Amino acid sequence: TLPVRSVSVDVASVFLESGINQTWHRLLLQVEADFTVMVLSRKMEAIEPSLTLKISALAAKMKSEGLDVVSFGAGEPDFETPEYIRDAGKLAIDTGKTRYTPASGIVELKKAVCARYFDKFGLEYAPENVVVSSGAKHTLYNVMQVLLNPGDEVVIITPYWLSYSELVKMADGIPVFVDAKEEDGFRPDPAAIEAAITEKTKAIVINSPSNPTGVVYDTDLLAKIAAICEKHDMAIISDEIYDELVYDGDIRSIACVSEDAKQRTIIVNGMSKAYAMTGWRIGYVLCDKRIASVMSSVQSNATSNPCSIAQYASVAALNGGKEELESMRKIFAHRRDYICELIDDIPGLTCARPSGAFYALCGIKDFIGKSYNGTVLTDDITFAETLLKEKLVAVVPGTPFGAEGFIRLSYACSEENTKKGLDRIKEFLSEVK
Ligand code: PMP
Ligand code: GLU
Repeated sequence: TLPVRSVSVDVASVFLESGINQTWHRLLLQVEADFTVMVLSRKMEAIEPSLTLKISALAAKMKSEGLDVVSFGAGEPDFETPEYIRDAGKLAIDTGKTRYTPASGIVELKKAVCARYFDKFGLEYAPENVVVSSGAKHTLYNVMQVLLNPGDEVVIITPYWLSYSELVKMADGIPVFVDAKEEDGFRPDPAAIEAAITEKTKAIVINSPSNPTGVVYDTDLLAKIAAICEKHDMAIISDEIYDELVYDGDIRSIACVSEDAKQRTIIVNGMSKAYAMTGWRIGYVLCDKRIASVMSSVQSNATSNPCSIAQYASVAALNGGKEELESMRKIFAHRRDYICELIDDIPGLTCARPSGAFYALCGIKDFIGKSYNGTVLTDDITFAETLLKEKLVAVVPGTPFGAEGFIRLSYACSEENTKKGLDRIKEFLSEVK
């Protein structure tokens, strides 16, 4: 059978081509009340759904059906939001902080964001440089919408968080990929970045610590990237959402590299990961005030302010609770060591040791082309499907991250879960022939 999408487009274009005018076309659609024949935005129809969210939902559904699924899918801390943050949310409700706020966020939160960046990196920003949105994903959406004109190119370093390419396409931009190799610890070669730049290049996205590789860029690499961006007058979109989750060495923001780098950097961050606040949906940007002002205008028409209650809870989160943050970080650090140990113990599985975030990107190239129980593991997608079906272990295939021949394991889960899942993966791989 043909996929519904191509059938619907074909039927609709047949109507138009055969001279039926728009009014008739619309009437026909109403009579049939069948939206499968409506012409939708071709641009939006071409957008891939977020596979990370899809796999997490699938694993949750299988669990709810009573299956003993081990999920390495979701990039989501398994901790409760710390109590002091939940209390601030409750207080916001009880004290009537339940109305519209300024579209770009409350000033208390913008100030708390500026204070955080000053304390952590010595970077000075004012509230007018900050826009608060409904999660860092929404922030990135706004950034792309505001920055890009049709045909503008955005350099994305692979492996990359799979939403970047789709967010660029939604803004009529063109993603241009530059490979960072496993043997280089997934650090991109500055020369390869420069080679990808054309007259249409508008920006580069960097993500350190990275989802899905866990690589943390050192200052030298950040300085080289910043110098390239200065030379070619490009914006730097720096997704720093994992900057509290670093287990080896130091973390720098690329905006620290020089005054020029700070001017051209659009920092994206949010509350989801470090504060275990995925459901509260608060993200923010720090950038040039002209960009912030256009983002604020866009947001004022698209969504208005992010949730008022979540904003007040985020003020409390940023202004306090250093111990809670540190205790979660330590647990993640321990889990990182543990999962690496288990992976190292599995013949044929590779993994460049992650230094931050909570993902292990494992190479499965040795197993591609081999068979499990009659199923040929043609690629990482079939591999992940077969693993889920046969051993009830959910992992995310690497292909949508631009990482063919890899699978991503999120270790934002208990060590018990990790052990059980890796034991099953080990057994699965020993049965691949
Ligand atoms: N950036 C990266 C690299 C991510 O992994 C995520 C995952 N959620 C986000 C941004 C978006 O986070 P959120 O929208 O929950 O703030
Ligand atoms: N960022 C997380 C992940 O990569 C959460 C899901 C999503 O937003 O993509 O799994």
